[in-house]
Amino acid sequence: MSEKLNQLKEILGEVSDLNHAGSVLSWDQQVNMPPGGGEARGQQLATLGKLSHEKSTSDKVGKLLDDLKQEFAGSDSDDAALVRVAARNFDKTMRVPSEFVSEQAVVTTAAFEAWVEAKKKSDFSIFHPHLEKVFDLARKYVSFFPPSDHLYDVLLDDYEPGMKTADVQAIFDKLRPQQVKLIRNIKSAKQVKDDFLHKKYAEKKVWDFSATIASKFGYDFSRGRQDKAAHPFETSFSVNDVRITNRYEPDNPLATLFSGMHESGHAMYEQGINPAYERTPLANGVSSAVHESQSRMWENLVGRSLPFWEHFFPELKKLFPTQLDGVSAKTFYKAINKVEPTFIRVNADEATYNLHIMLRLELEIAMIEGKVAIKDLPEIWNTKMQEYLGITPPDDAHGVLQDIHWSAGLIGYFPTYALGNLVSVQLWEKINKDIRDLDSQIHDGKFDELLAWLRKNIHVHGHKYDPQDLVKNVAGSKIDPSAYVRYLTKKYSDIYGL
Ligand code: MG
Repeated sequence: MSEKLNQLKEILGEVSDLNHAGSVLSWDQQVNMPPGGGEARGQQLATLGKLSHEKSTSDKVGKLLDDLKQEFAGSDSDDAALVRVAARNFDKTMRVPSEFVSEQAVVTTAAFEAWVEAKKKSDFSIFHPHLEKVFDLARKYVSFFPPSDHLYDVLLDDYEPGMKTADVQAIFDKLRPQQVKLIRNIKSAKQVKDDFLHKKYAEKKVWDFSATIASKFGYDFSRGRQDKAAHPFETSFSVNDVRITNRYEPDNPLATLFSGMHESGHAMYEQGINPAYERTPLANGVSSAVHESQSRMWENLVGRSLPFWEHFFPELKKLFPTQLDGVSAKTFYKAINKVEPTFIRVNADEATYNLHIMLRLELEIAMIEGKVAIKDLPEIWNTKMQEYLGITPPDDAHGVLQDIHWSAGLIGYFPTYALGNLVSVQLWEKINKDIRDLDSQIHDGKFDELLAWLRKNIHVHGHKYDPQDLVKNVAGSKIDPSAYVRYLTKKYSDIYGL
């Protein structure tokens, strides 16, 4: 290995250590930290972030990358991928002045606090001036990059490298009418029964059952753990320490099971990355959509399937005999797949979920283009909800204020949720060709062959390939909605007798 590559790897290793130390602090902040620790924690994270930024943008790194790019041109080795990804990260970081980074931190800290209050009081006017600043900064951020086909391309690229706004719009334009039609058909069918899902289910039993499922999926608890937090998330400090959080909502007690499946799907991806990539930029999931395809696959394609519950329902019923008295596996399966337009994205079912995303994409694009006045946002939001889902939010907390993303400056992230859904089913069709008896394996509670397939085709590669290439190579086509439409139609035709 060249001396220069060694030097680069050493610096990137230290950058990775600093970033992971920051992740440990953030995890602790959300899981363990007493409320009084907030201010000190903010300073500690800022210091680590500054050190990491200085290290990764030094002249030395720039010079090493310039030389190594030439040395590795045309190679498809792991080292060449490392140099390519590091150079891409370097280029992006260098374009953004550090004053901007500080300004963004100040603006989003205030925006987040305003959003919390605005949501609590359901009053958009509290958040409005902050959201204007967030979008002003997003436009400024775009201006640091070379002109692209669309302003939004630059924002999207941070989460879904290589994806263009026009590609996403074309995908959504194909998907939207089909999902709207399906929802209309379901609306005229007889609604499924799900009252038993909203009875009282003891927290500890639900929690332990969730951990059992994650463990049976193949989430390795000797290299992970599940803790309680306000919001479920996954975070990785190393391929050998990948953690998840979960929560228990008394009104929706079994949601814990599905959040656990979702987050363990993310976590198994990170646990499956080639250990040789540790402490390099290759040791991450490749993009937000591909990451979400993994969580959605375990949550929905496995965890909301009939074969899965044919296996696990008797165990669940043993834990909750009174709550599930008279309920069959099939009735339970239908209940957890109930389709009903709702106001809140995170609670949306598979048939309506993507419409929530399409609405957000349209608004983000309009705001970046400056085509809508931010003060008009609640009204536009409600009009679009009526248009897409046939319902109007009762207040802003159930409408425009529901998501944390904009307050954190995350513009361009939402589409990756829907793209992740599409990718999950594209992969699923391929997996079912490769593993012919997958349904009966799931019915028997066996997931090792499925996980091995994902490890080999997706997980092990980490960030080595471009996400669009990875999907194309594995699934046979780039991100496309047709597999998802086939899946939804088949699933809900069965459940609703369409
Ligand atoms: Mg997720």
